[in-house]
Amino acid sequence: MPVSTAIPTPSQDRHAGQAMRRGAAGRCPSCGEGRLFTGYLRVKDECPSCATELHHHRADDGPAYVTILIVSHLATVVMLAMFTMYRPSTTVMLTVLCGGTLVLSLLMLPRIKGAWVGFQWAKRMHGFGHGHEDRSTADDPQATGAAR
Ligand SMILES: [Zn+2]
Repeated sequence: MPVSTAIPTPSQDRHAGQAMRRGAAGRCPSCGEGRLFTGYLRVKDECPSCATELHHHRADDGPAYVTILIVSHLATVVMLAMFTMYRPSTTVMLTVLCGGTLVLSLLMLPRIKGAWVGFQWAKRMHGFGHGHEDRSTADDPQATGAAR
């Protein structure tokens, strides 16, 4: 009697870089066609184009942490450069830096979250390892071990 295994074969490998690029573009990491998000940051339950289940993602606070890490480092460099080169007033510094970090954060967050979800999909994390044939067990929280 053949025993099924959850370990993917090499032919089932998913390209992480491609999945992350597709996710960063706001597209399904599997097909690259369907939209990943409904609204600003809410991930769709499944791809409208290829029906890949996307609800398995567990992005949590990860994309926010990465966004803060990148934006704060950029803001530090800009702040130092602005101050040493132009010596602007406090009002100008605050306005430019607060506005810049706000806009940059809002632009980067969905892209980083999309890449995050794409990476999880490519590495078969949190229930993404199940194919369409496992839909019955993938919907069972005890079978996947994931809470949504
Ligand atoms: Zn898709």
